[in-house]
Amino acid sequence: MPKAIIIGSGIGGIATAIRLAVKGYQVEVYEANAYAGGKLSEIEFNGFRFDAGPSLFTMPQYVDELFKLANKNPSDYFQYEKLPEICRYFYEDGLRLTATADTNKFAREIADKTISTEKEVTQFLTKSNTIYQVTHRVFLERTLHKIKSYLHWDTLKSVFRFGQIDAFRTQNRANQAFFKDARIVQLFNRYATYNGSNPYQAPATLNVIPHFEYHFGAFLPQAGMYSIVKALVKLAEDLGVRFRYSQRVEEITYTTAAKPKISGIKVNDKLIPSDVVVSNLDIWFTYKNLLKHFPAPEKLLKQERSSSALIFYWGMDNYYNDLGLHNILFASDYKKEFDAIWQEKNISPDPTIYINITSKHIRKDAPNDCENWFVMINVPANNGQDWDVLIKEARGNIIEKISRILNRNIEKDILCERTLDPRTIEYKTGSYQGSLYGNSSNNQFAAFLRHPNFSTKIKNLYFCGGSVHPGGGIPLALLSAKIVAEEMD
Ligand code: FAD
Repeated sequence: MPKAIIIGSGIGGIATAIRLAVKGYQVEVYEANAYAGGKLSEIEFNGFRFDAGPSLFTMPQYVDELFKLANKNPSDYFQYEKLPEICRYFYEDGLRLTATADTNKFAREIADKTISTEKEVTQFLTKSNTIYQVTHRVFLERTLHKIKSYLHWDTLKSVFRFGQIDAFRTQNRANQAFFKDARIVQLFNRYATYNGSNPYQAPATLNVIPHFEYHFGAFLPQAGMYSIVKALVKLAEDLGVRFRYSQRVEEITYTTAAKPKISGIKVNDKLIPSDVVVSNLDIWFTYKNLLKHFPAPEKLLKQERSSSALIFYWGMDNYYNDLGLHNILFASDYKKEFDAIWQEKNISPDPTIYINITSKHIRKDAPNDCENWFVMINVPANNGQDWDVLIKEARGNIIEKISRILNRNIEKDILCERTLDPRTIEYKTGSYQGSLYGNSSNNQFAAFLRHPNFSTKIKNLYFCGGSVHPGGGIPLALLSAKIVAEEMD
């Protein structure tokens, strides 16, 4: 039985472990932390439970696929529901919108409350669908780094339709052409942040992202996002995968022949042999720490990183009926907010605030009469800013803004608090500069500039996870695992 070692138990690493176990490999996963999941983790304190990282679950079919591959029923492992309400949007001028799974209803609400029309929304979502149809097989489900990918009939068809993916204007420019109302432009510009990018620089191809949410839907696992990890770890273990926690890999080893080949890994200075190694680490640290003596693709590693996040986990001693599971409180000047993040590497004094409250659906996530608030703003990746100062300022601005928009003093309800910032994201998950999604997608070539899922220099070395092709976010990290497994055929 050939042996495969996976370094890192992020969602991409676990999915790769499952796929390789199904293929007949003896699989071991080495994880630096004492728990699985990487960025997809949870924290508990003072009777509150929080999903610490991702809070939005889209494309659950990619998770289900793993159970089906193993001839198991996903619902024996975890349950999730489709959300009728996707997100509540709040603007400083008093406008409130609720994005619903029923897109006609959402379009009607937009037409009732703004100068945009139902037709604008329908045309936008149709375009979003077109971009998905043209791109998903080419950019998301296959490697871009082998000729054979371009020889499929569906890829060739997509190549002829490339003009339709809107790669040559920015997302903001495209959305201004779609919507008369600037607030609706802002609403759809927000999707650039789903992969840590800037809508004023990123290509309008990113308008594919709303298709995931409005066509396939937004979902919530019944026991919270971390139950995805627990379910997949259980499935992997059922398939014989062995997880080695608190084992930080120090080196990837390979033969020194003319054509190097993987020989294993080093942990605690001990060599552990393996036929295949898959790194689920951020590609930057894979080269800089684990392949120190191997020439790194410096140009690729120097690309601009995606944005990071500042998160306050607040145990709230009250109910807030105005808020739902997902809530966005928009900045008054969105462009200024992104200029602060991307040009000044700073935090805007008026940031867009995301509040996620799982206790709205999962009552046991907070004590009686309380709510668990995950309050997040986008911030630049860590370039050595004085985070302690920035966090203090941001906290004040956030409390003031939420209190103003909800017309309630929220500070008095904060019972307990933890924070996560770019420094701690890097420390806890091994993400270079604390960026959430690897490299940014701020230019139209970004999709082609991500690291491939295999090494062209070291035989039997592969890469999965959000910092390599096809990109960041749970769905794409899961697809990276699929591509790795297919490339081993
Ligand atoms: P990672 O999660 O990056 O895990 C890598 C693992 O490698 C870690 O467990 C780490 O401990 C381990 N490791 C590192 N170094 C070593 C070593 N030397 N030896 C052994 N192990 C090592 N995505 C969404 O789809 N929806 C969201 O709503 C969303 N929101 C997010 C919010 C936040 C705050 C964050 C941080 C991320 C969010 N994302 C979201 C992005 C998503 O979490 C990631 O894209 C995805 O989880 C990355 O998975 P991965 O496979 O790349 O592994």
